[in-house]
Amino acid sequence: MLKLTFLGTSAGVPTKQRNVTALAIECLNLHTSGSSQGNRPHSNSQNKKSRPWLLIDCGEGTQQQLLHTKLSLHQLTAICITHVHGDHCYGLPGLLASAAMSGRREPLTLIAPKAISALLDGFILHTELYLPFILNFVSIEDLLSQEDNKIKIDLDNQHQLMIEVYPLSHRVPSHGFGITQTISRRTLNTDKLIANGIPASALWGKLQQGENVTTEDGQHLHSADYVHDDVQRTKVVIAGDNDTPECLSTAVMDADLLVHEATYTHEVMMAIQARNPDFDPMHSSAHIVGTFAQKMNLKNIILTHFSARYQGFDNPDSETPNMAYIRLDAQSVYQGNLWLAEDFAQYTVNGATDLADTQEGSQKESRVQYIGSARDHEK
Ligand SMILES: [Zn+2]
Ligand SMILES: [Zn+2]
Repeated sequence: MLKLTFLGTSAGVPTKQRNVTALAIECLNLHTSGSSQGNRPHSNSQNKKSRPWLLIDCGEGTQQQLLHTKLSLHQLTAICITHVHGDHCYGLPGLLASAAMSGRREPLTLIAPKAISALLDGFILHTELYLPFILNFVSIEDLLSQEDNKIKIDLDNQHQLMIEVYPLSHRVPSHGFGITQTISRRTLNTDKLIANGIPASALWGKLQQGENVTTEDGQHLHSADYVHDDVQRTKVVIAGDNDTPECLSTAVMDADLLVHEATYTHEVMMAIQARNPDFDPMHSSAHIVGTFAQKMNLKNIILTHFSARYQGFDNPDSETPNMAYIRLDAQSVYQGNLWLAEDFAQYTVNGATDLADTQEGSQKESRVQYIGSARDHEK
């Protein structure tokens, strides 16, 4: 399961309600279990101290936004920067400096355009910024020049992440990231064990670990008869600034969720271009993203990166531009599940599970769910 927390949802400049772009993605494995009963689907024994997360973009003020969440810079595994515009990266030096001051020592991966490395070198040189941890810098340009534009991260032996990079269309080179989480899990068929008169005991744990065992009354039990091997795969695609969603046609084909900018409505985009034909902002309208999502048959999209002209409330009858304008612009062409991001809004994304061993080869359906605000606990 991936858990998304929007830390900034405004385009270009912050507003009182919206900071500039940043998105946290926690990589949760609800099935991590040290006990023999690994079949409890809701047991959440993933160590709080080992809940890795990714940060996609880091606009100015991202570290202050993080203070309102439960996310810790010590658990941050990687930062991905979509492009060099300030509303997506000006928060990076401050966030890294704070990670250093809070005693972080673990290496950190940074996937970003090459220019970001030069920017950080400048901060390190001119502001005596010292990072007491290794920054593994991966240049997007290098990644894209390789045949395999992916990075694999092993979180543990059952839990892997793959980060893919896709080129987009914007005023400067901009990119989307495909984040794929794979969780492998062996489930014990406890119903079958109980039906066969084998009560819960240490034998269950051995069977789950692949051992064949003999019960006290002499029954030989084969592990393979009592376990399923499941693989859950969850993929989200997070786009940077982009005026052509079709750049992501291949990327979204196997995705559970697309997060894309929708800076304004189509009407406003046209009006801006009509007023100044030489100015091409190179952003998407909600209508453009909705059209793409409908064409690709996407079940779930979250729009973000809204122009400061839109107020946060949702009222189609109001003359003040607000979220309803964006929502209706997308819904006029898109029939799937649509959410408009707000700062601190949290979503869970559960990809389908392949139940490899079941005869039906059945799948648990993928699901995206809004779960509230990260600031709810402050109320
Ligand atoms: Zn932007
Ligand atoms: Zn931009």
